[in-house]
Amino acid sequence: MPMTILLAEDEGAIAETVLYALRAEGYAAEHVLLGGEVLPRLRRGGIDLVILDVGLPDTSGFDVCRALRIESEVPVLFLTARDAELDRVLGLELGGDDYMAKPFSPRELVARVRARLRRQVVHDDTAGWRRLGRFELDATGHRLRFDGVLLDLTRYEFGLLEALLARPGAVLDRARLMDRVWGDALESGERTVDTHVKTVRAKLRAIAPDADPIRTVRGLGYAVHVEG
Ligand code: CA
Repeated sequence: MPMTILLAEDEGAIAETVLYALRAEGYAAEHVLLGGEVLPRLRRGGIDLVILDVGLPDTSGFDVCRALRIESEVPVLFLTARDAELDRVLGLELGGDDYMAKPFSPRELVARVRARLRRQVVHDDTAGWRRLGRFELDATGHRLRFDGVLLDLTRYEFGLLEALLARPGAVLDRARLMDRVWGDALESGERTVDTHVKTVRAKLRAIAPDADPIRTVRGLGYAVHVEG
């Protein structure tokens, strides 16, 4: 049975594109125009993920999300139009799981949907991506995803996470990290490691506010935990 996505979007052209892209990927897709229609539809069951436009005619997608969170854990992906909306989504106090800013590529949207649904189901490894708990690593492409969302990392931030992910749970001390990640860099000093851990943590938290997979081991160094 195909997974079913519920889309709440009042702009016809966008809705059509999204529905088409989802169905082309084998999902069942249903469409409502109003925020007020989302909860009644959810209550009838069978919805695996909700895509919520923030700017709906009757109510905001944020309010819809808040209301549905009281009774459902269904993954929610926001579609946002304005920067002001984006700020609130990034605050993520609203219980959404992910967002896409308009204009977006339908293919990217479907990729997000797939990643999000895959977290609920069992994962299969495809292409160059290797799953490490909540992380996915594409070592050749120098890309990392967390909870299905591509991380925007600097070269050293990527190197740091990659080094830690090589042995999840194992503690790497600052000297070893310096050596492995900053081996060829002029600027050095073990504070560099701490600074980068800080920025990486912030980027992970922007995706999942509850997430703190990097553990500080006082006097030793850092370890990354990939589950939970
Ligand atoms: Ca709209």
